[in-house]
Amino acid sequence: MRCRQNPIANGDGYYFGLMTKSTRVLVVANQKGGVAKTTTAINLAASLAMANQRVLLIDLDPQANLTSGVGLKDRATDAGTIYEALIGEDVTPSAFVLPTSVDHLSLVPANRQLTGAEIELVAFANRERRLRPFVDALRADFDYIFIDTPPSLGLLTLNGLVAADRVLIPLNCEYFALEGIADLLATLDRVRAGLNPALALEGVLLTMYDDRTNLGQQVSHNIREFFGDQVYRTVIPRNIRLGEAPSHGVPVILYDARSRGAEAYVALAHEFLARERGQPPSASGATPDDPPPGADGVDEKGRP
Ligand code: ADP
Ligand code: MG
Repeated sequence: MRCRQNPIANGDGYYFGLMTKSTRVLVVANQKGGVAKTTTAINLAASLAMANQRVLLIDLDPQANLTSGVGLKDRATDAGTIYEALIGEDVTPSAFVLPTSVDHLSLVPANRQLTGAEIELVAFANRERRLRPFVDALRADFDYIFIDTPPSLGLLTLNGLVAADRVLIPLNCEYFALEGIADLLATLDRVRAGLNPALALEGVLLTMYDDRTNLGQQVSHNIREFFGDQVYRTVIPRNIRLGEAPSHGVPVILYDARSRGAEAYVALAHEFLARERGQPPSASGATPDDPPPGADGVDEKGRP
């Protein structure tokens, strides 16, 4: 499926497309499962691609949800998947890149075989640095590279953190959202202390926000108190279309561009790009003072 609608390529997208800047490598990390790491990687990447940015997704999770979420389950080039890229010697990184159905959006896929890498990597002297040269070799071809990680702080996630310039942390607005965050922050400190001193925090994204509950508001308040300005103003609402899109193998923007889930990720892409330019956050995104209306059902305009 080719993209027919392009909600962010007009105006801003054209402008952003003219920007000259160096490639940014982002790792999406949180050792908790189900916080929307993969959903954020797919949909932020797709929204940026639709704003004429050249974007690469790298699937570093043996569950391969990112790969299936862009409709490329069990697909790979002759070179193989990210597993062969990590374990092999003298690989050609560009040979692993697959195009997706979204213009400007490419993928280095994964499959279940990657489960073995967590153990096999231990045998390598530079076990945490296997991904970095692979990613560095691809910088010239892309504006943004997003690495999706598994729900653990094991060797695969470490490889992602060592290969990246910045970390994006999705947190779901539920009671235990901040539980375990100390372990993640300690891991970031350890990586900075040795393996990747330049690793910075890109931002914290509130996901699965349900404004029907006081809990969502309370948790988002606590997270903002803890992380301050590092939290994106854009909040991703709980939205059924975001859960449905992966089974159709497309980003939500191609599945239902009018859904609140799609609009939220487009707003996030705007805020992300504005931050890249060092501008104050755009007012287009939902904010905690102006949360997206409704929750899992339809909003007041009858949208899903
Ligand atoms: P992670 O990669 O952190 O494990 P996922 O991105 O796979 O998390 O999300 C977990 C599940 O929740 C998936 O089924 C996904 O489709 C769904 N999901 C993610 N974000 C939302 C949302 N905002 N609203 C509703 N469902 C969501
Ligand atoms: Mg995932």
